Amino acid sequence: MENFVVSARKYRPATFETVVGQSHITSTLKNAIKNNQLAQAFLFCGPRGVGKTTCARILAKTINCTSLSPSQEACGTCESCQSFSAGHSFNFHELDAASNNSVEDIRSLIDQVRIPPQAGKFKIYIIDEVHMLSQSAFNAFLKTLEEPPSYAIFILATTEKHKILPTILSRCQIFDFNRISVDHIASHLNTIAEREGITTENDALHIIAQKADGGLRDALSMFDQIVSFTNKQVSYKSVIANLNILDYDFYFKLVDHLQSSAGSDALLLFNEVLNQGFDGNHFINGLAEHLRNLLVSKEPRTVSLLEVSENIKQKYLSQSQLCETGFLLTALNLANTCDLNYKNSKNQRLQVELALLKMAHINAAIQLAQVPLANPTDSSDLNKKKTPITKKEVEVKPTAKVTPIEPIASSTSSIIQEAPRPSPIAIPKPLGKSIQINPAHAATGSLLIPSLNDITAIATGVESNEPQLIKGDAQEKIKPEEFYAAWEEYKEKAKAADKINLYTVLNNEPKIEAELITVFVENTALESTLQAEKIELLNFLRTKLRNFNLNLEIKKAVLNHKRRIYTNKDKYAYLLDKNPILATFKDKFGLDLLP
Ligand SMILES: [Zn+2]
Repeated sequence: MENFVVSARKYRPATFETVVGQSHITSTLKNAIKNNQLAQAFLFCGPRGVGKTTCARILAKTINCTSLSPSQEACGTCESCQSFSAGHSFNFHELDAASNNSVEDIRSLIDQVRIPPQAGKFKIYIIDEVHMLSQSAFNAFLKTLEEPPSYAIFILATTEKHKILPTILSRCQIFDFNRISVDHIASHLNTIAEREGITTENDALHIIAQKADGGLRDALSMFDQIVSFTNKQVSYKSVIANLNILDYDFYFKLVDHLQSSAGSDALLLFNEVLNQGFDGNHFINGLAEHLRNLLVSKEPRTVSLLEVSENIKQKYLSQSQLCETGFLLTALNLANTCDLNYKNSKNQRLQVELALLKMAHINAAIQLAQVPLANPTDSSDLNKKKTPITKKEVEVKPTAKVTPIEPIASSTSSIIQEAPRPSPIAIPKPLGKSIQINPAHAATGSLLIPSLNDITAIATGVESNEPQLIKGDAQEKIKPEEFYAAWEEYKEKAKAADKINLYTVLNNEPKIEAELITVFVENTALESTLQAEKIELLNFLRTKLRNFNLNLEIKKAVLNHKRRIYTNKDKYAYLLDKNPILATFKDKFGLDLLP
């Protein structure tokens, strides 16, 4: 098979005009050349592979060209241009500071600077990754940078602008290179493909561009690799196979499952993904990206943030119409939490599966949240009636069981079209447990989506409704001593991690009754500390105690009853509380308390 010429080299732009995606820089440079106002030192900043060195080369070639075009481009035919194109011009020197960062390297460069150009007007020195120069090399270089000979132009390039010393920054004209947009890269690849007679699919080029993350050089080398593997047939399938990318279709299918509360289908799909050799973390991050894309597709103003091909964009737009913002936000939040927990988890697969199951339950939870608002008196009735939701019920019709409320519920959903939906107040849960959602939100009635705290509550509440799906039927009975030991262990972990607030709140001894933990907290600060930790903590306790029905309730309380009794006065007050006759006794005998 014929090897494809490395397109990064072959199609390296030779004129300002052909530089991809950096027109703000090339036009400034051309203007400076035209007006003869070229700085002697430039700093080119920006991510790798976006054209910094390329622009430096073009600049060098252009200012040495003997017959510039009217649009300030190098002619490409004069002697100077030809020696540049052949790569042996003496007027261009490149130093890679990543590998040559010693004082000696800089000294030999400075020695070269002293020699004027033999042909042409300017000598250009580019120092790549200039932030890697050692301190002493920097110092040696500074003097030359302060007083350069008139024929010398320095271009310092860096991917890490913040590491450049202010003394250098102040002496340079600074250019910030952009990440190149996916569209720009894809269309550039398309141009090359056309010239080389390569068959491509638009989706395929977009995937390569996305994977390159703004770097044209990376995109080109991936493109080369795929062209040679596929014998000039760059299809979507071949690209995702070669770049080890999970097919978009997986995520579209997955969100369909999650939307229709088909948790087990989601698990099977995840299994399929694992069997294809992808890892769980990769998968959950891809899902988060997908959900983000759906979110931005919901609003006409943010659709432009979607960096995908037209074909896939249409798919996003239509799927986003089927998803409620509340669903997307909650799912995104769950994916994010899963990603954070993933690395530390002993059972990583379970982490992802749990997240998927919770996501599959979001819609049911949101729906339930709306019911009591429509008719609050019915909620107790609902509590008695409702058994844990199974997948089937949800799939068939989530509200089918609560017939008296159904008309109201469906009228609520029709309101969604024109007006913000009423905020959820309380999510009834089986067996009289209920999650309270910030009543302040309910009072305003104007929130379209639940707040983050509410979402956390929904997410946690949801999970305990679904023990069968998570871990089979067997939930172990909770032994108080085991629970307190686990609690203690978590507390110590918080202490070891220097989470002082968390440690303080965990120090408030919790109550455990059946499967409900109650923690009393003194103030709102501690309450929100615990609220923020709730999912983590529950995950830990549920796993530790092998009971996935376990839930946690935070109650605010003035912890008077817990006050320790120190003084005699305290003791008297305590006893008096237990037996009021004591007061009469004290008065009758004229007794007094010891100080
Ligand atoms: Zn020329």
